[in-house]
Order: sequence, then C-alpha cells, then structure tokens
Amino acid sequence: MIQLVKGTKDIYGEEVKKWQNVERRMRNLCEKFGIGEIRTPAFEFTELFVRGVGETTDIVQKEMYTFTDDGGRSLTLRPEGTAGVARAYIEHGMHNDPQPIKLYYISPTFRCENTQAGRQRQFHQFGVEMLGSYSAAQDAEAISVAAALLEELGVQGVELRMNSLGCPKCRARYNQVLRDFIGSNLDKLCATCKERYVKNPLRVLDCKEEGCQRVLQDAPSVLDCLDEECTAHFKKVQDILDEMGIAYTIDPKIVRGLDYYTRTVFEFVSDGLTVCGGGRYDNLIEECGGKPTGAVGFGMGIERLLMILDKQGTDLGISSGTKVFIGSMGEAGQKKALALAYTLRKAGICAEADTVERSVKAQMKYANKIGAAYSFVIGESELEAGTVQVKHMESGNAEEVALADLVAYFQKKA
Ligand code: ATP
Ligand code: MG
Repeated sequence: MIQLVKGTKDIYGEEVKKWQNVERRMRNLCEKFGIGEIRTPAFEFTELFVRGVGETTDIVQKEMYTFTDDGGRSLTLRPEGTAGVARAYIEHGMHNDPQPIKLYYISPTFRCENTQAGRQRQFHQFGVEMLGSYSAAQDAEAISVAAALLEELGVQGVELRMNSLGCPKCRARYNQVLRDFIGSNLDKLCATCKERYVKNPLRVLDCKEEGCQRVLQDAPSVLDCLDEECTAHFKKVQDILDEMGIAYTIDPKIVRGLDYYTRTVFEFVSDGLTVCGGGRYDNLIEECGGKPTGAVGFGMGIERLLMILDKQGTDLGISSGTKVFIGSMGEAGQKKALALAYTLRKAGICAEADTVERSVKAQMKYANKIGAAYSFVIGESELEAGTVQVKHMESGNAEEVALADLVAYFQKKA
C-alpha cells in the first residue's frame, strides 16, 4: 500500500467544502479590491528564489525542494509566491501598464520543513501583490485586504502587528547597532544565532528559542535607526489604517522570514498562530532584473486559517443545494430516473438517481444518508400515470407532481 508523503494531505469530503467556501470569498473580495488573479508555474529556476528570497533565509538554506531536470538545469518547487509574481511582472513588461498592478494567487506552496500542527511540506497560500507604487497608501491598501478577509470570515482575536525595517541604508545602520548588541551577548545565544550574527544579524530577532528571546528583549529597536523619510512613510501607513478603522500594534521585533522586505513588515496573529505575513519589497523587482519598482504584498496560509476557524468553532455557512433523490423500480424506471436527474441537473437542481442497482428500500436509506431534501420513486405505474409522489424527507409529507412539471416544481423549492 503506497501512502501519501509526510507533510502532505488529501483534501476531500466536508473539508474540501470549507476550502471552496474560503477560496470563493477570497476571490470575491479581491474583485472588490480590483485585484486580478495570476497563476504562475509550480516550479521556477532555482536562481530566482536564491536571488529573490535571499541566500541567508531559512527557506533557501534548508527548505527548498530542488531538483535537476533533463537539461541539467536546477529547478525548485515554489516555496513562496512573491518571487514568481515578480518574475512575471518583469517578463511581461507589466510596468508599461497603468500602475499599480494588483494581483492575487491561491496556490500550493512547498517547503521541506519538520511537520507539526499547522506546518506542512505542501501547504497553500492566498497571496496578494501590489506592484508599481512606493507610497504608504499602497501598504495600507494591501494590509486592508487581509484585514477585510479575516473580518468577513469571522476570525476572532486577530491582532495586526507592524514594524518598519527602513530602506537599505537604515537597515545597514541597524544591522551595525544590532550586531554590536548581539556581539556583547553572544555567549547567551543558541548556535544558529551565533551563525546568523555573522551572516544576517536581523535573523536573530526571528529566533524562537526561549533563551535567545530573553536576551533580545533588551535589543535596540530598528525604529530608532530609521531616517526621516522612512519614519514618515511608516507614520503615513499608520495614519491611513487609523482612518480605515483597522487596529494594529507596533512590534519592533517583527522582521519576517524573507530577505527582500524593506520598510513596512506586518503579520496577522490569532490564537498565537501567524496566519498572514507580508511587507514592502522595493528592491525585489530590480534584484530580479527589472526596473526599480516599489511593491508590497502578503501571504496567508490557508491551512492555518482553517485551523483557527475550526478551533474557534466558526461556521463557514456551507449549505448544500436542494438535493432531490430519484428512486427507481425496474429497468424502465431506472432509465427514466437517470433521464430525469439529467434534466433537473441541467435546470440547476442538485439531483441524484440510483446507479448501483439497489433495492428501493436501500435506495431510500441512501437518500437519507446523502441528506436529500426530497425524494420520489419512479416505476411502471408512475410512468403510466405520468405523475410521481414527491416526498419531503424531513416532514414525510408527500405531494403529487406531474413528470412534466418536475423542473418548475423544484425550481420553486430551491
Ligand atoms: P513561520 O514563522 O510560521 O515559519 P514564515 O515566516 O515562514 O512563517 P511566510 O513565509 O511569511 O511564513 O508565509 C506566510 C504564511 O504561510 C504564514 O504566515 C503561514 O500562515 C503560512 N505557512 C508558512 N509555512 C507554512 C507551512 N510549512 N505549512 C503551513 N503553512 C505555512
Ligand atoms: Mg517558516
């Protein structure tokens, strides 16, 4: 028996209905925000992620699914969505179109991580990218998409945490200040942080080890290292969010796991789980070979989102359409039942008929199991009379309906 790969899941039955519901709401919301869909390939040249996501990130260092194709080229399964969108923006000359370019995707994402609750090797991200503006207004608009979605889905206790990493100049200044601080506390930090200290001190702030977190409580704040322009930019993001009525807290420890972020970074947390992470990435497009282009976006983990909704007992309001079960007796009855089901389905009504040749009694049991709202049986006598007895399953009440009137009858019930 071949089983599925660790860290992957089959999504079916009641579970997949939740996915469809959430995805539908994501798509509808994006339409309201003027955000179009983009579908990029599941794999790209490895170089794109190494350059885009950053050599010192966890993703590139240890989480990518990389393989070599027939031509000896190194390819990687998408470990995040932004780099592929950046490549597409450049490749299709989207900078020539009216800016901003607002795009969203709902796609499988692959990271070779230790699996645990809320952490898989194939997971799914709903991502939004807004390219072509350096303005704080764009940051606020991007953040407001995630806020609106979480509100609409009824996620409770959502906290928006924000920080600014400044422009590369501010960042370099902060790196120095932070390195000095870490340097004088090096003996108290974990082995990984000692390495990060050399390669990318900002990453140390991201460490989940308790001992490291204790030391970092006294770390200097990046916000004290921002120049006037970066400070004003961050202030403007906050002002617009205030005007929108979106609450947030400022947390100078948030750096996010990707190297490409500049200025605003943010995350939405609920029940201690980060459900959404994002930020501004003004250098990514240029880094990937395009013209300098301001951009901002976020990624939301759909598994995490559903986990939180489940835990909070949120009803996703899944209602199945009126389901009609058409039972049959005899060969002529079965033929007619299948034909009637076909007619009803084409008229927009959910209908089922027997296709496994059960007894009438077993057919009715099945109708109950699938939650049919109505049922009727068709056999010799019904065919002759041209009418059937439609039973309302819950009340047990029956009504005589002519075969020719069935479509109209059920359309009225829907
Ligand atoms: P974390 O700190 O939890 O590892 P991250 O910084 O790696 O998160 P991002 O790269 O910003 O996360 O991805 C955005 C979102 O995607 C996360 O907030 C989370 O909801 C989801 N996510 C990330 N990795 C996984 C995974 N392995 N399995 C399921 N969801 C994930
Ligand atoms: Mg991670």
